[in-house]
Amino acid sequence: MPDQQPETPQVTQPPAPPARPADQQRQPNQGRGQNPRQGRGNPPQPQQQHATDISVIIPLYNEEESIRELHQQLRSALGRMNSRYELIFIDDGSTDRSFNVLRDLKRNDRHIKIIRFRRNYGKSAALSVGFEKAQGSIVFTMDADLQDDPAEFPALRRKLEEGYDLVSGWKRKRRDPITKTLPSRFFNFITRLMTGIKIHDFNCGLKAYRRDVVKTVKVYGELHRYVPVLAHWEGFRIGESVVQHRPRRYGKSKFGMGRFWKGFLDLLTALFTTRYLRRPLHLFGLWGLVSALAGFAIVAWLAVEKLLGETVLSNRPLFLVGILLLIVGVQFISIGLLGEMISRTRTVEEEYSIRDYIK
Ligand code: UDP
Ligand code: MG
Repeated sequence: MPDQQPETPQVTQPPAPPARPADQQRQPNQGRGQNPRQGRGNPPQPQQQHATDISVIIPLYNEEESIRELHQQLRSALGRMNSRYELIFIDDGSTDRSFNVLRDLKRNDRHIKIIRFRRNYGKSAALSVGFEKAQGSIVFTMDADLQDDPAEFPALRRKLEEGYDLVSGWKRKRRDPITKTLPSRFFNFITRLMTGIKIHDFNCGLKAYRRDVVKTVKVYGELHRYVPVLAHWEGFRIGESVVQHRPRRYGKSKFGMGRFWKGFLDLLTALFTTRYLRRPLHLFGLWGLVSALAGFAIVAWLAVEKLLGETVLSNRPLFLVGILLLIVGVQFISIGLLGEMISRTRTVEEEYSIRDYIK
């Protein structure tokens, strides 16, 4: 798909391209589940005329002090952009007054939509439901804690118009404690190395997407840190744009030290699910074969020595190593085969439960 996209995509503005025939109009929910890869391989559809140009998705968990000011900033930034927009707030099971604040704001602002989870499902689930509901042809995501600045939207949009499908913010000057910035550098480095995606800041909350991306990529578990990796795998073009970052003013970070080991495991997941989900045997089978062959070679060599009467197996620890490698190898291959069977029957289900959806 990327090659066929026009140089300057018509993402935002009239004149409206021809509408699709009625039978091709996207049905609600069609974007997910039924044909998750629909963005791929198809030539870019003429942009369907959406009633909304821009969707802003804001996941939040206990951010009552920030929401009003955030709303003000959003209104003034989007007002300047002169576009039709919607603000989708996802209350990820907050236990403070966040939901009440949102409901109050909604009384005077018809752009606001509120989705409220029954409990705290995490940022990935929140983004995922936002992606599903978003109607705009461009989708922005941002954090609710006032660390991201909506005044960056126009710059991100310009970058999209240069021909990217996903533009990630780059907090070049990051206003966070060093305990966060240092490990984050390390993660970004490893991720860049392993995936070949040339951006500096994978986990910036502030990002811009073309509609196709959010309707194709499936963010689950805690993979929100690696959305660019998932999108890249689907064939979308990933860019970045430097953004201002501000210190957190109210409340505290919602991710504790757990973010590091989870982040690392999630990187493995991201790599596994993008590269190997459809062919787990290639990963497990390869290492299984290496191990089993090494084990076999060792055992065979010792067997020959034994037969020639040159050794007594009971005092050769190498014998145990050989057997171990053989068994581990066979197990790896079996796991790969089981993975193949599972990936063939797997169905993806939603993993959150919505308590209120106020449009
Ligand atoms: N968030 C969320 N669900 C969670 C944790 C966080 O919706 O379980 C939201 C949070 O309210 C904020 C954004 O995700 O709007 C980023 O969280 P935070 O600022 O704590 O992350 P950090 O800036 O420390 O990386
Ligand atoms: Mg933050």
